[in-house]
Amino acid sequence: MKIGFHGPGTPVDPDDHERAPDPRVVERFRNHLERYLPGMLEEPVAAVTCLYTMSADQHFVIDCVPDTPAIAFAAGFSGHGYKFAPVIGELLADLALEGCSELPANFLRLGRFTEL
Ligand SMILES: Cc1cc2nc3c(=O)[nH]c(=O)nc-3n(C[C@H](O)[C@H](O)[C@H](O)COP(=O)(O)OP(=O)(O)OC[C@H]3O[C@@H](n4cnc5c(N)ncnc54)[C@H](O)[C@@H]3O)c2cc1C
Repeated sequence: MKIGFHGPGTPVDPDDHERAPDPRVVERFRNHLERYLPGMLEEPVAAVTCLYTMSADQHFVIDCVPDTPAIAFAAGFSGHGYKFAPVIGELLADLALEGCSELPANFLRLGRFTEL
């Protein structure tokens, strides 16, 4: 069994950060297991940290580069980009080929951060 925590953590430098998991997080998992899956609790085989980029609102950032509309980009997947890969590809293709998309994805544009 594998369990994980998804959410914003402490910002770190990906090239220089503490890989050992925070013992408080491991303890929190232990408490959840005891509560929701009683009888499953054993000593963990392994506990590791993982990193991903978390945008300010935890949504993707998909847009054309300001002042360089020939370049489309997708970033800031905030730990949930994988399952959206097909539609992200479609959106990027639309932006690269047409400069815009019929897909309802304006809420993912870069400008939302400057408009806040
Ligand atoms: C631990 C973890 C759990 C996750 N769980 C989920 C989940 O349950 N569901 C979900 O939907 N999403 C999940 N995600 C998020 C998902 O994995 C990402 O959103 C997705 O992989 C982003 O796709 P990407 O193509 O932008 O980047 P990546 O998948 O990171 O691909 C980038 C590629 O570029 C290559 N690369 C980097 N630099 C260079 C270079 N200079 N030259 C050549 N190649 C280069 C890398 O090797 C890599 O293959 C998780 C992420 C992590 C880290």
